[in-house]
Amino acid sequence: MTGEGLVDTYNRVINYLRLSVTDRCNLNCFYCGAAPGQCVAEPSRQELTVEDYRQVCEVAVALGIDRIRLTGGEPLLRTDIVQIIDAIAGINGIKDISLTTNGMLLEEMASALAAAGLKRVNISLDSLSEENFRQITRGGRLAGTLKGIERALRAGLVPVKLNVVLLKGINDHEIEQFIRLTFNQDLHVRFIEYMPAGGQQEKWAEHFLAITRVMEIACSVAPLQKVEGEHGVGPAQYYTLKGAVGKIGLISPLSRHFCACCNRLRVTADGKFKPCLFLEDEVDLRPALGNREKLIEKFREAVTLRADPQRVACDAGERGGQFQGKRFMSQIGG
Ligand code: SAM
Repeated sequence: MTGEGLVDTYNRVINYLRLSVTDRCNLNCFYCGAAPGQCVAEPSRQELTVEDYRQVCEVAVALGIDRIRLTGGEPLLRTDIVQIIDAIAGINGIKDISLTTNGMLLEEMASALAAAGLKRVNISLDSLSEENFRQITRGGRLAGTLKGIERALRAGLVPVKLNVVLLKGINDHEIEQFIRLTFNQDLHVRFIEYMPAGGQQEKWAEHFLAITRVMEIACSVAPLQKVEGEHGVGPAQYYTLKGAVGKIGLISPLSRHFCACCNRLRVTADGKFKPCLFLEDEVDLRPALGNREKLIEKFREAVTLRADPQRVACDAGERGGQFQGKRFMSQIGG
């Protein structure tokens, strides 16, 4: 390891890096971008290259990071995504490479991604009804994502985790159906509280639903058991229903902050470290590319900017959950 590992002022060890590889997306989800058309596929000249990611990850590993997630935008829109994974997988010391996707392109790409070294995927799936799915994603085809899920399972990109953003009045009537998926399939169905990123306060106020609603419904379906261990290292709390093979995950960034155990740094597609999801602070890593020592300094600078978890939670509460800054989730990576 290069000197000390990454530990912030509040004694949180950083061992997880989320790399957003593009802002472009082939969907335009209701809760993710600003308005229809905001999140269309425009080739961006700002995106980091395969070599940039290799350098960043090599330094990250030297600083104690051993888990990498690729996200976006839609990461599978990068025509060189297989090369990015291949470059990262070749670095000694990386224990886990995962990817978050809407699944639309997984049917054709899952095998190549697995062969390049991808270990597992999280797939966004906010409705099990064709029409509701089309409306939430503003034009997406449910069948495409379902085929992607099936192909990911076959390619061994497991556990396959499904991300469901809870939306009051939009998909809350489907909670039970999502929960029941875990009876027969070894899927982790994860419910995520809707966050008001990028200034979408009004629709957030209308559609935010606290995660406790999922617990109420789950308990009415079958007895629940908490799952401890490996699954507990991220922000999700996992449960199994009696008789189920899969798991239910609950992620509550707003009703129950998990800042105190935050172990991650984010890098945006345009090459900025984002030390905290809720805050505006960023550190530009581009000037340090090609110089290992400078890149290490940038990592350390970003870690220094990580704020007091109590204060972040309080301030976000005072702002009504609102994020600082104007980036949408599609420009952060979730
Ligand atoms: N295109 C990929 C996808 O659809 O999963 C990756 C990018 S997406 C920004 C990453 C994750 O962020 C998804 O699981 C998505 O559901 C979540 N997300 C986006 N906007 C959100 C919001 N406002 N609140 C909570 N989660 C959100």
